Amino acid sequence: MGEFDLIARYFSRPARHAVLGVGDDCALWQPQAGMQLAVSSDMLVEGRHFLSTVSPQRLGHKALAVNLSDLAACGARPLAFTLALSLPHVNETWLQGFSAGLFSLAQANGCELIGGDTTQGPLTICITVFGEIPPGDALLRSGAQVGDDIYVSGNLGDARLALEVFRGNLQLAPDMFEAARLRLEQPEPRVALGMALRGVANACMDISDGLVGDLGHLLKASGVGAVLTTDWVADSAAISPAVHSLPMNKRLDMALAGGDDYELLFTAAPDQAHAVQEAANACGVSVTCIGRISAGQQLQVLDRHGVAISRRFVSFDHFSN
Ligand code: ADP
Ligand code: MG
Repeated sequence: MGEFDLIARYFSRPARHAVLGVGDDCALWQPQAGMQLAVSSDMLVEGRHFLSTVSPQRLGHKALAVNLSDLAACGARPLAFTLALSLPHVNETWLQGFSAGLFSLAQANGCELIGGDTTQGPLTICITVFGEIPPGDALLRSGAQVGDDIYVSGNLGDARLALEVFRGNLQLAPDMFEAARLRLEQPEPRVALGMALRGVANACMDISDGLVGDLGHLLKASGVGAVLTTDWVADSAAISPAVHSLPMNKRLDMALAGGDDYELLFTAAPDQAHAVQEAANACGVSVTCIGRISAGQQLQVLDRHGVAISRRFVSFDHFSN
């Protein structure tokens, strides 16, 4: 099968909202009058971002999910995406699974594939997503205010836990491993929650490299500090049964420095607490308050008794891990 047959069979779908989709030199998109475009790219490299054992269907889902998570973090509505794909060889079983996982998540989010590039090489997937948002509504990392509550959506640590089981560093009961593995291989981007937090949250980002490290980026962008509590790691909706089964020090590692969570980390004024819960309920996602924004530039992590934890929680960095 040649390159063009491959594109036609696995990656061409009739344009729904695009003026022109796959097939010409450019796709054409008519922006809605008065809306701003939100654009983001994420690349997945085999062995670096995913294990070669992952099912192609889940990989197709994840490649788009990590991109949609960036749109969610801005509160943008997904519109379209492009797919640049480097494949070692043509494997139709793989392509079928990959495109099924990809298009299934795309359809669920009203987001269409409008173009891309296909080449032979090491397995690498690069997606660029396009979303829209009314001017001034985008949720930024730089908006946190002193006194804001800090929240996370969903639960943290499962993806890293599954990775550590794959690496042979931890063990889990089979049902708990399957649940954690699903979070690693098939994360759910919090698109609806991001949109529902417009006008409610002051700052927002998605957690991809680990809570403490990512929170550090948000604090720096906002010019503020924070006090992060950890009583929620002992018992809250943000900790799954699988992570809960670990001893407390391991639980802290997974939840605070795990990575690959793709949950939203956001801040909101205390008088928005009710609106935050309403947004979460409307989207069927839990949110947990995990701390407060403070003056200064320090990030303090407190244990269950309110005593500062001095050890560092190191997040993922591609050039230092
Ligand atoms: P060009 O020669 O201009 O680089 P290509 O031959 O690479 O174009 O691609 C032909 C058409 O197929 C273009 O519309 C391009 O956007 C689309 N395309 C190529 N690869 C993919 C892919 N993996 N997914 C979706 N569309 C693709
Ligand atoms: Mg061309």
